[in-house]
Amino acid sequence: MPAIRGAFLRHSLRGKITLGYYAVAAIILVASLFFVGELRTLEARVVLGQRATDLFNTVLEIRRFERNYFLHHQAADLEENAAYIKLAKTMLTDNRADFLAIATPARLGELHTLLSDYQQQMSAFAAVEPPPLEREPRVRTLGQELVAIAEDMAGSERRQIQTTLASFRTLLLGVILSMALLIVVIGRALSLRVVRPLKEMETSVAAISANRRETLSAPSDDREILSIITAFNHMLKELDLRQKSLMRSERLASLGTMLSGVAHELNNPLSNISTSCQILLEEVGECDAATQKMYLAQIDQQTERARNIVRSLLDFSRERAFRKESVLLRALVAQTVGFVRGEVSAKSVVRLAIPEDLRVLADAQRLQQVFVNLIRNAMEGLGPQGRIDISAQIVHASEPPAGTALGEGCEMKGEMVEILVADSGPGIAPDILPRIFDPFFTTKDVGHGMGLGLFVVYEIVDEHGGCIAVQSTPGQGATFCIRLPHEERGAGTAAGASGDKGAQ
Ligand code: ADP
Repeated sequence: MPAIRGAFLRHSLRGKITLGYYAVAAIILVASLFFVGELRTLEARVVLGQRATDLFNTVLEIRRFERNYFLHHQAADLEENAAYIKLAKTMLTDNRADFLAIATPARLGELHTLLSDYQQQMSAFAAVEPPPLEREPRVRTLGQELVAIAEDMAGSERRQIQTTLASFRTLLLGVILSMALLIVVIGRALSLRVVRPLKEMETSVAAISANRRETLSAPSDDREILSIITAFNHMLKELDLRQKSLMRSERLASLGTMLSGVAHELNNPLSNISTSCQILLEEVGECDAATQKMYLAQIDQQTERARNIVRSLLDFSRERAFRKESVLLRALVAQTVGFVRGEVSAKSVVRLAIPEDLRVLADAQRLQQVFVNLIRNAMEGLGPQGRIDISAQIVHASEPPAGTALGEGCEMKGEMVEILVADSGPGIAPDILPRIFDPFFTTKDVGHGMGLGLFVVYEIVDEHGGCIAVQSTPGQGATFCIRLPHEERGAGTAAGASGDKGAQ
């Protein structure tokens, strides 16, 4: 049981805070008990001091009535003198135990004997008739000794009170200082064991939200922190799975869009192959070997083209880990346009203004997804004479692109590849412009849009360390601007799609 309690205190935030609380409470309790004890001692000393002063005052009264008696010879003065002597003796006897703290037993005995001697001397005068005119030197000496001893006792008690007060002050100061020190030490220990792990967690959470790390690591072995971290990491994993599943459904939607374009794309090589085969069949045995070879080469070429289209579609549909490579941008965009062209009205125009050799360092599959989503959105609002312009160039960025801009790369300066996708559609109303990248935001009817297209675009651009911005004037179309870190021309392995067959 004690072992369990020890572990609870060591591995639990609540345990540590409770321990700190009990430690402070114990310190305050001990200090309070100590001071109560000290105050009681001081109180006893003050009472004793009062008694010593009373004894001294009584002795002074004895002497006053002694002097009066010898001056005026009044019997009343003698009586008062006797009464005070009696009182002093009673005081001495009753408070003997207390007076032992300020005088030795011998000194107390001496005082008692002096009082008795003095009493005897004074009683002797009561019987003398006529009363003596002069004070008896013996009485005077005894009286002086009585006063001296009583004064000494009162003075000694005063000195003791002063010493006690001085040591009480020093102790109070010492205890206050050590309490402050202990509280600082406890506070520091709590801050080390409680606040620091929380601060580290705050930094880690910020790093996760900035995509710089994926999971939270435990900054301490406290139970509460461990369970928060486990729950948080579990939540991150769940979010990741859900995001992947959203991406998957978005990709399926894109695949649906692409299928009619792919069918159209496949149609060309297939009809070329078919034509070449028909010619060969018709001319079997009639044409020379060179012509046969030419038609067979065409069939081979068109088969390869069809295979490339199918491979690209398979590549796009396959789920795979994020992998950057050097991508020929124009080829990729042209192929994507070809795939989604089935959706464009026959009279609409898609124009490309991208240098042939412009490369970006990107995940080709994901970048293609970006273009599918942007082109699909642009096409959806296009009128019969609609136009989509896709251009790209290397820019020297010194500030974020104009309009609503999102992404890690928006603050990046220096050379970047800037891709513009502009359409002549209806544009986007200013009030919805800041929300179009939000997940599940759509203005389309139920069943026509999930509101994930631009969210996925933003996620992919951000994953590439890029930036996406949008500018639009209602009635005059919308322009999406993507900036990606620039890949040096010719560097890396050429990848991505080849050919430029989709653009008009
Ligand atoms: P969805 O297409 O499923 O609605 P998106 O995230 O792709 O989801 O787009 C969100 C909203 O942004 C759309 O519903 C539309 O209102 C607006 N939008 C996006 N692109 C354009 C565009 N090129 N022209 C006009 N509106 C657009």
